[in-house]
Amino acid sequence: MFDLDTPVENLTKVGKTVAARLKRLGVFNVFDLIHHFPFRYDDFSNLKNIADLKPGDIATVRGKIELLAGHRSPRKRMMITECFLSDKSGSIKTIWFGQPFIVKVLKNGDEVYFSGKVEGNLLETYFKNPAYEKASAETTHTARLVPLYPLTSGLSQKQIRFLIRQALNSAGRLGDWLPADFRQKHNLAGLTLALKQIHFPDEQARLGQAVRRLKFDELLKLHLQNYQIQQDAEKHRALPIEFKEAETKKIVAKLGFDLTDAQRKSAWQILQDMAEAKPMNRLLEGDVGSGKTAVAALAMANAALNKVQSALLAPTEILAGQHFLELKKLLKPIDCNVAILTRGRRQVFNTADDKISELSKAKLLKSLNIGEIDLLIGTHAIIQDEVNFNNLGLVVIDEQHRFGVEQRQALRQKSGNAATMPHLLSMTATPIPRTLALTIYGDLEISVINQLPPGRKKPITRLVEPAGRNQAYEFILEKIKEGRQAYVICPLIEESDPLRREASPLGVKSASEEHQKLTEEIFPQLKIGLLHGRLKSKEKEKIMADFNEGKIDILVATSVVEVGVNVPNASVMMIESAERFGLSQLHQFRGRVNRAEHQAYCLLFSETNGLKSLNRLKTLIDCFDGFKLAEEDLKQRGTGDLLGTIQTGFFNNFKIARLTDIELIEETKKAARELINERPEILNNIDLNKNFHPE
Ligand code: ADP
Ligand code: MG
Repeated sequence: MFDLDTPVENLTKVGKTVAARLKRLGVFNVFDLIHHFPFRYDDFSNLKNIADLKPGDIATVRGKIELLAGHRSPRKRMMITECFLSDKSGSIKTIWFGQPFIVKVLKNGDEVYFSGKVEGNLLETYFKNPAYEKASAETTHTARLVPLYPLTSGLSQKQIRFLIRQALNSAGRLGDWLPADFRQKHNLAGLTLALKQIHFPDEQARLGQAVRRLKFDELLKLHLQNYQIQQDAEKHRALPIEFKEAETKKIVAKLGFDLTDAQRKSAWQILQDMAEAKPMNRLLEGDVGSGKTAVAALAMANAALNKVQSALLAPTEILAGQHFLELKKLLKPIDCNVAILTRGRRQVFNTADDKISELSKAKLLKSLNIGEIDLLIGTHAIIQDEVNFNNLGLVVIDEQHRFGVEQRQALRQKSGNAATMPHLLSMTATPIPRTLALTIYGDLEISVINQLPPGRKKPITRLVEPAGRNQAYEFILEKIKEGRQAYVICPLIEESDPLRREASPLGVKSASEEHQKLTEEIFPQLKIGLLHGRLKSKEKEKIMADFNEGKIDILVATSVVEVGVNVPNASVMMIESAERFGLSQLHQFRGRVNRAEHQAYCLLFSETNGLKSLNRLKTLIDCFDGFKLAEEDLKQRGTGDLLGTIQTGFFNNFKIARLTDIELIEETKKAARELINERPEILNNIDLNKNFHPE
């Protein structure tokens, strides 16, 4: 038996290469393996006699191997392995393609299980590529509900099942953090049992109980965490930030546009909250392009006017960089110092000055610490321990669903003044129904920007047939000649992208190759940029700046542009292999080109002719309601949609609970309250963050 923190390297059959692959899945030790849950199961529990097999059956049989032999196929250069499997009732031919090693693993006379689909017709039935395993009391790959796991290239289902089997021997070490009577009352399986059953369920009913227990844990921990945060907030006072009306009006007058009524109302609600000595906890919801940044700017400006520091946390460097530039314009009418801190960027400007200066990290941290910097913009980098504020009074979190509860909390605890806690403004474009938001985020207030700025036209959205590709390129050229810019989005960075290969069969477009094709063949006369997450921060910054200033006509990018990127002059969004993205995500992309008065266009290309995928994409043509699209996503996505699950955002921190588990969300909320009232000590005994792996 292993300790839970035993590194995967110490397990049987794990060398450096396999360990590196496991790490790509976020699996570092035995604990992680135990918590690497299947996304689906093959039901091979249906044990049959060979004589009863019919074409189309998904079945398992137990029998003896006979006449096992491998040979090369006559025409194709593929290895074929054949054998007969016999039981008391009869025998069935079996054939495997491209798995030459089988003759080494199996021998004539072996007693085995085969599981898979029966092919053939009335005259002859046979197994094609069945899963196989030597017969034993405890099977792993056949003759049961067989787990299928999220993988990465170079790692097979068999390998990971084998490792998880080993790790599960240690599951008992986790104990059970929930008291027995509580479990009984809420009809919950024991934790060890649930963990074993989620991987290797004895039957559907047991699997159901395991799922319930594990979801229950995740949601219960979330509520307990929220409760702690809430308690914490109640104990603390906040620095009241007085609403400076005259200066605020000055900023509003210089915005260059009139605020929408919804923006005004939201700003007013936020400024009212901030004037209190009680920490604000407010969520600002507004569809992409609804103008949340301007509202947040007013809040941060008021903090600066009150000589209180604020922090703006963004999920990507690109977005942080963009906020930095945008606030340079928005905050011009007041006097303050604004800095940016990301992995690769440390800069500062004073609003009275046009110049942006580079700073050393040490210098930046010092200025922040002594209170010279009024507003710090950044990514995760600003949550690090070494970052200390002088008097942090306001924290703004953009695209908050990208951050875990504990990250939000960490930033909130950096006030530089133990007696106070900063006001918190979270922003999101994911439309979360009010009741759900209250349940998930604990006690918070909500402001909604439910209108887009006037004059925005709905982006014309088209699903383009492969034959229409050249016409689409001509259209893009035309728009660029009119002075506009365009994006081309691809799901992959490179064709061989190892992280994604698992989920992306051939034919899925990669940004690097499209970039090359557009530069060399399609638009040699235009400036084409390439943007993806693997570039250095300086390079990303340069490309975004060039695109912003119109020096790049077409930006080929991966989903890094999904959140919040704002280049109003861009009016065409072309999306390659659109079927690889969720509807909400596509809507986010589309939001990138709906930022100004120009008519925007969204052209969807698809590598599939699957009716389901195409119909899903068609929803985008006449639906512009982010909320509806999010619901549609939830309805249409099976758990098997790996890429989708990873990118759904919002419930990122959960391995198994889903946004659609509404009833369980409610039930666990009540249970959390009960637990806290009856056994407050439970909060001290558990590590609430254990299930939440920060990205
Ligand atoms: P999001 O809510 O998606 O974060 P942004 O804050 O980035 O949206 O705003 C999108 C664009 O709309 C920006 O270019 C911004 O300057 C502009 N904008 C914001 N509010 C208004 C308004 N009331 N009228 C016109 N344009 C606006
Ligand atoms: Mg935004």
